Amino acid sequence: MLEVSNIALPLDAGLPEGGPSVRAALARVLGLDVLDIQGFNLLKRSVDARKKHDVHFVCTYAVQVDHAVQERVLERGVKPPVNVKLHVPYAGYRAPEPERALPERPVVVGFGPAGLFCAWVLAQAGTNPIVLERGRDVDARTADVEAFSKGGPLDANSNVQFGEGGAGTFSDGKLTSGIKNPRCADVLHAFVDFGAPAEILWQAKPHIGTDRLAGTVRAMRERIIELGGEVRFNTRLDGLDLVDDRVRAVRCTDVRSGDSEVIPASDVVLACGHSARDTFAMLKDAGFAMERKSFAAGVRIEHLQRDINRAQYGSAATHPALGAADYKLAVHLPAGRGVYTFCMCPGGEVVCAASEDGGVCVNGMSRFARDGRNANAAVLVGIDPEDLPGDDVLAGVELQRQMEQAAYAAAGGTYAAPAQTVGDYLANRSSSGPARGKHAVQPTYARGVVWCDLRRVLPGFIGDALADALPLLDRRLKGFANPAAVLTGVEARSSSPVRIVRDRTTCMADAPDGTAGCGLYPCGEGAGYAGGIMSAAVDGIRVAECLIGRYQR
Ligand code: FAD
Repeated sequence: MLEVSNIALPLDAGLPEGGPSVRAALARVLGLDVLDIQGFNLLKRSVDARKKHDVHFVCTYAVQVDHAVQERVLERGVKPPVNVKLHVPYAGYRAPEPERALPERPVVVGFGPAGLFCAWVLAQAGTNPIVLERGRDVDARTADVEAFSKGGPLDANSNVQFGEGGAGTFSDGKLTSGIKNPRCADVLHAFVDFGAPAEILWQAKPHIGTDRLAGTVRAMRERIIELGGEVRFNTRLDGLDLVDDRVRAVRCTDVRSGDSEVIPASDVVLACGHSARDTFAMLKDAGFAMERKSFAAGVRIEHLQRDINRAQYGSAATHPALGAADYKLAVHLPAGRGVYTFCMCPGGEVVCAASEDGGVCVNGMSRFARDGRNANAAVLVGIDPEDLPGDDVLAGVELQRQMEQAAYAAAGGTYAAPAQTVGDYLANRSSSGPARGKHAVQPTYARGVVWCDLRRVLPGFIGDALADALPLLDRRLKGFANPAAVLTGVEARSSSPVRIVRDRTTCMADAPDGTAGCGLYPCGEGAGYAGGIMSAAVDGIRVAECLIGRYQR
């Protein structure tokens, strides 16, 4: 098969199934007769909207031709910018197998993308992993999150951060990532095998949507159990027992009954995410090496999705082949601080992503259809370790907590969120309600917003950086700083403020006295090795492979 990339196709080309117009286009770029094309399938599709008068798709196809034709095309090549090469089909994922038995079943702490994919590989390798997850299964958790959205109490163990599927379960399910790793294909194929929409395999910016993620996560868990794994919900890791600088057991608590248990374990994967603040404190107290890392914090911005579509796609904005438009923007302020948008959720809503009583933090999610009225994204200000006071390794966690508590207090202590229009924010005056007019945005945050002055909530350097950056971001995307756009605070948990140090080769942390290879494997976003669903899942696979590698030598 040939792999033909960088083919420009009009929005009307009948994608993704591909009608006669695609066949004709493939024949044209390959210099063949249409009858030479025996079959084709879409491998990648992106939207090129750089010129608003010429918004089109850019596609890669696998094309079936007979062997002689294939050789001829490969030899003579095609006219740039189109490229052609031999297509190597996806070969499937095969977990490595240990060469000797593990002393105990490996324990995976946390069932977000990192823990999920780690347990999936460990289960395929026949090691019968035990997963400990402080939150509830995805169905019970969904009910808890819905009850909270409707005004119920916050469950500190079952919420948007904690529970089966991890932090990204109530998300846009974006699977884009900056990492270039062949394991990304394994993650995408696994998601599809477990029920995610097949188009994530060819969309250049794949997303699953919160409504499709839950079923996918449930199906993966069922497979892990079928392969001999065990998943214990409502079970929080509280401590690690080490003997002779080696992990020997995990101490855990059933968060519903309060019962505690000690599970013998020589290999413990710690995939607890960036919100496991009590777990970070436990590791610090136990003396494991941790370091501060850069992170970011700010607010969420909401616009009318219609306005974003128009800004990105011009007059093509209403074309049925185009979904809701997204954006990704960044500026460097003259003083050197970076401000950027993150986790943009087209047609989505702003959600409360708190996991601690008395704190409000926001994030965004959308359904697969991305058909909500508003678009939202985080607008974040970069924070370096040097910005933090003192030398406590958890100073970043403390800053996040302070911001969240300030947001909670500013909005009346009811889990409503503080909000302000961009117009008022830039004019440095408190808001008393949404703007009026054709760009007016009604905030989607389910617990309601309290209109206020967000600068009173945000640390000074974050508030100032946002004010400086909004007009500059508007130059990158027209209307971004529209006075009617709404800012909701605070977005403090876009990434982990700490890294749990691990060895590059073995993925293991040192024991507290510095002895290498103690059997603890920090993994995923909370440990500082990932940012987002895809990279967390890939890190989960990598750590599982490292763990198995310990029993291959
Ligand atoms: P997590 O997903 O945080 O999972 C950690 C798990 O560990 C949790 O389930 C937690 O309950 C459990 N846990 C914690 N402590 C303990 C303990 N002591 N004992 C037992 N269990 C414990 N990323 C994207 O790429 N695309 C998106 O569209 C996207 N949208 C998001 C929307 C929202 C609302 C949120 C909150 C995040 C979003 N993210 C998104 C970020 C993404 O969810 C994370 O990057 C990713 O989930 C990190 O994976 P992880 O497995 O490392 O950690």
